[in-house]
Amino acid sequence: MSRIASTLLALAFITTGGRAAFAQLTPDQDPQISRLVGEVSEERLTDILSKLETFGTRNTMSSIDTPGRGIGAARQWIFDTVKGYSPRLQVSYDTYRIAKQGRITRDVEARNILALLPGRSPRRIYVSGHYDTVAIVGGQRDRNSSGAQQPATIAEPDATAPGVNDDGSGVALTMELARVFSQSGLEFDATLVFMCHVAEEQGLMGAKLHAQKARREHIPIEAVLNNDIVGNDRGGNGIIDGASIRVYSEGPEDSPSRELARYVQRWAGRYVPSHRVRLLSRPDRFGRSGDHTGYTQYGFAAVGFRESRENFTRQHDARDTFEGVSPAYLAQNARVNAAAAASLALAPPAPLVVNDKGQSTINRAPSGYDAHLQWKASPGASAYRIFWREAWGPDWQHEMLVGNTTEATLPNTLIDDLVFGVAAVDASGHESLVSPYIAPRSTAVEPGDIKTVPQQQP
Ligand SMILES: [Zn+2]
Repeated sequence: MSRIASTLLALAFITTGGRAAFAQLTPDQDPQISRLVGEVSEERLTDILSKLETFGTRNTMSSIDTPGRGIGAARQWIFDTVKGYSPRLQVSYDTYRIAKQGRITRDVEARNILALLPGRSPRRIYVSGHYDTVAIVGGQRDRNSSGAQQPATIAEPDATAPGVNDDGSGVALTMELARVFSQSGLEFDATLVFMCHVAEEQGLMGAKLHAQKARREHIPIEAVLNNDIVGNDRGGNGIIDGASIRVYSEGPEDSPSRELARYVQRWAGRYVPSHRVRLLSRPDRFGRSGDHTGYTQYGFAAVGFRESRENFTRQHDARDTFEGVSPAYLAQNARVNAAAAASLALAPPAPLVVNDKGQSTINRAPSGYDAHLQWKASPGASAYRIFWREAWGPDWQHEMLVGNTTEATLPNTLIDDLVFGVAAVDASGHESLVSPYIAPRSTAVEPGDIKTVPQQQP
């Protein structure tokens, strides 16, 4: 297509609002996703949380051969339960031998529990939590109250650490979504992975080892929705908020993790409008971390879900019991995860907006004052949606659907003052992550690079 023709085409989209490309408009909500979200069961979440509590502790260093107690019994129960949900789920242990170091007090076999639901493409979307627990002497509350300057003193591995909220809640959510997705009968484009990590409490080790392996083996992880402490809505300070969830993500503003966070807010908002997704522009809570950070460290897009209000008395403590969680609140957070993961898994992959040299394919043609966007076609896409915003502020402000094209021009629109992105949309309206056009780092001369002529001696 000539540049003039494509410009005229883009102008046509502007004047007709993009409708020309579609024989009929598709609704913004997919009834299949609504049905899937509606399958999340508060009763089943309650059953899982109650069962997890019975293991007493799931400390990574705890007993692996005591019937009904410790990490060995717990991981086997999770494995068998998830395997029983559907023959479509491929359940396996993702096993590592971690040497003695830091909080790992002896060499230990560590097993993530991985349930894979194959999609049409190998690109992967993860929903995760961590099934290990820990108790620290005095609990998290004493640690916070003291200012947390000293390293925490870890209780004995077999000491009681029921971890119903930390992170039984994330595990219950992950298991329930494994059930709902695998029993939905839907064929997803992306491969879904429901992952229960281990050794989070020893420094995100299960997540980091898996992410490291994925990086090494070029496993295309597109998104990680990590849930850690998502089951309680009653703050230890008395403030209650059962109608929101916090989502943390690593920056900068147009990093893959931030695009994922925006996606969660946009699509969960359509399917679970009663639950507010609060985005926070920092990797995690102050001075604390979770498994999503293990993935971002290896270059994958990942966000961390955290309950609206925390009760530190019930964290890293024998008091992290069933009485401290609200299954109804956890169910809402599970629905938010389900809506985001299903939307993403049904959508085409995000379009590429860089050339072979990694440069953003955006310029000022043809007038020199226009926004001319180009992208590579995504398999399965039948339209694209352009987003833009002022280059000050984190949220997209404008969006426009264009047809099955790979470029668009917004006349007299300055790419210097606006940030642009584009998402792929399929015939049913499923939308991909937004690929942003990242401005190149300044090409100004680096310090020390300026050549100077030696001065003549006087
Ligand atoms: Zn945790």
